[in-house]
Amino acid sequence: NCLKFCCIALLCTPLISLAQKRSIDQRVDSVLKLMTLEEKIGQLNQYSGREVTGPASDKKTNQLNDLKTGWIGSMLNVKGVKDTREIQAAAMQSRLKIPLLFGQDVIHGYQTVFPVPLGESASWDLEAIRTTAHIAAKEAAASGLHWTFAPMVDVARDPRWGRVMEGAGEDAYLGSQIAIARVKGFQGEELGKLDAIMACAKHFAAYGAALAGRDYNAADMSRQQLWETYLPPFKAAVDAGAATFMNSFNTLNGIPATASTYLQRDILKDAWKFGGFVVSDWNSIGEMVPWGYAKDAKDAAQRAMIAGSDMDMESNAYRRNLAQLVKDGKVSEALIDDAVKRILRKKFELGLFEDPYRFSDLQREKEVLADKKHLAIARDAAAKSIVLLKNTKAVLPLNRNYKTIAVIGPLGKSKKDMLGNWVVFPNDTATVVSVWDGLQNRKGQTKFIYAKGCDITGTSTAGFAQAVAAAKQADLVIFATGESGDMTGEARSRADIHIPGKQEELFKAVKATGKPVVALVMGGRPLIFDAIADEADAVLFTWWLGTEAGNAISDVLYGDHNPSGKLPISFPRSIGQIPVSYNAYSTGRPVKDPKNIHYRSAYIDESNLARFAFGYGLSYTTFNYSALEVDKTQFRKNETVTVRFNLSNSGKSAGAEVVQLYIWDKVASVARPMKELKGFQKITLNPGESKTVQFVIDKTLLSFYDADLKYDAEPGEFEIMIGGSSDSIQLRQVVELKGE
Ligand code: BGC
Repeated sequence: NCLKFCCIALLCTPLISLAQKRSIDQRVDSVLKLMTLEEKIGQLNQYSGREVTGPASDKKTNQLNDLKTGWIGSMLNVKGVKDTREIQAAAMQSRLKIPLLFGQDVIHGYQTVFPVPLGESASWDLEAIRTTAHIAAKEAAASGLHWTFAPMVDVARDPRWGRVMEGAGEDAYLGSQIAIARVKGFQGEELGKLDAIMACAKHFAAYGAALAGRDYNAADMSRQQLWETYLPPFKAAVDAGAATFMNSFNTLNGIPATASTYLQRDILKDAWKFGGFVVSDWNSIGEMVPWGYAKDAKDAAQRAMIAGSDMDMESNAYRRNLAQLVKDGKVSEALIDDAVKRILRKKFELGLFEDPYRFSDLQREKEVLADKKHLAIARDAAAKSIVLLKNTKAVLPLNRNYKTIAVIGPLGKSKKDMLGNWVVFPNDTATVVSVWDGLQNRKGQTKFIYAKGCDITGTSTAGFAQAVAAAKQADLVIFATGESGDMTGEARSRADIHIPGKQEELFKAVKATGKPVVALVMGGRPLIFDAIADEADAVLFTWWLGTEAGNAISDVLYGDHNPSGKLPISFPRSIGQIPVSYNAYSTGRPVKDPKNIHYRSAYIDESNLARFAFGYGLSYTTFNYSALEVDKTQFRKNETVTVRFNLSNSGKSAGAEVVQLYIWDKVASVARPMKELKGFQKITLNPGESKTVQFVIDKTLLSFYDADLKYDAEPGEFEIMIGGSSDSIQLRQVVELKGE
């Protein structure tokens, strides 16, 4: 006992400096040796701490007791220096004084709110994305947090699914690049620094393929599809060093992801050598019972632990059942040890054994959260996320000499909606810049007037007359429309993704005045808005842009920021087309002439094309693609092909273009999509300026999973396509990969 006590003292007091010299592995092992089975299981247990920091209640008392007995390894939803200190202090009363991990959904910002992840993905600006993730981490870390449940790297092709908002859209390649940027942004230079928190790639796996876009639903797919479309961003997250993974609520081919040994052990921990830990999703262990996969919580705990779910978020199934399962010989203690070691390792890497309060410093919290530079970064990221969908009469950028502009629509003055869903402080809206505020902030000579017209949802048209009157008084109308900020996110699936309520009718009434109308369409998912898309003079899709939304929108409206966003997900024309992602197959009945649709793989009543395609987005300037060259047209697997072309700014203002590289493997042992994104670059050019752009194609860009899941490039012809959108290919070249 004395030996035990001395070791504990060594590990947990300033004397630890001796122990510090040992490697983390050794230190983890020495802590593990001191732990009882119950204490080990405590490390695997994560509770939500909403009540523990609140007023007195039974739950609060119970959780404080659990903390003091070492029954909790991590808490979510406890944040801020004051609260995290207080709760950590309770954990420090436990026998082994193992520090707690504090986790939180820091999805698109902590105090400073950045664009929702899907919106920010429209920037295709990896540096900007990495920067906002890093600022979010810096603020969260200064506020006592160690861990964010982000990024969500689920590929999602069904805009009915509310959680498309939280990811990077429909494409595996773009999604992988963005996953890397976000993981690196959150985790900074390395864990242990005071501006870095652990990232969590979620939801492993295939959650984005929920059947019919209904949240939490089953996902059923071929292994090729899984490997080709849904797994790559997760693999990229592992390679970028993601400290943790979260599993998911859905079944994959009948097996709940939480109980999937294939996903969590065979792929993640064995094949990919992931050294971090896997947290379950909220009660996803418990949900295996209603799924009809586990007969009770004990059965669920056994299955989840064997499958490699290391930490149990909220279900209590581990805490209540694991000890008995070990005693019954159903779960080996070695499995539990492995899970505990993975968690302890992260606590060591974060430096929490040296100082469990190192992230909880009041002075640092105050300074970091007051840093005004974060707002400038938010404004820039927001402007970069906006996508110009239409600008037919070049009504944008706005004429600064207009006398009166009418702002019309239910989102014109809203602050709260600008934040979107998954916000840490949803009620802190005072500093949020609405569209109206952003226009007022310009202090130009234009007078702005406002009419709401109607609510976002509902059937009343009582406000139409006032809106029409406002339009008549104005030189131009800014029509602020869309869904509400909380209509996307978890459990926010919609069967109908049109702009809700009477808003499009309001638009028509306003448009009938004959005044030019610029529509700002807002949402966390692709929406359908036929009248606006057809009749508005200009359309900007502005997502939910965060704290600085209105300033960024006004920067773009007035041309202080030339829009450069490109859609990371296709916008359908009608609901029946869903899913309508860009990477379609040729089929045995290819559609060449859109009018000749009979007998072809087409609808008789709708086009096959999206309304706005993946990769699409306009600028106030124009870009010209020319002079494509390849260094060889035939090559072998150990060689690369260099593609070069000229990009010039052929318009009148400086701007940035996202040039996109697509490839089609024309004949293969598995039929391939006609276009797959394989590279992109964002290039800024002054008017008249041009630049040679280069892509290097190697065999990894040509590889795919064959019927035996072998990943390789097959000899044959590949079509290389370059353009500013998946539906606007400007340059093409066929190259041939020769056999061995
Ligand atoms: C969500 C996760 C989230 C967790 C914790 C779950 O319902 O699916 O994405 O991280 O709750 O809030």
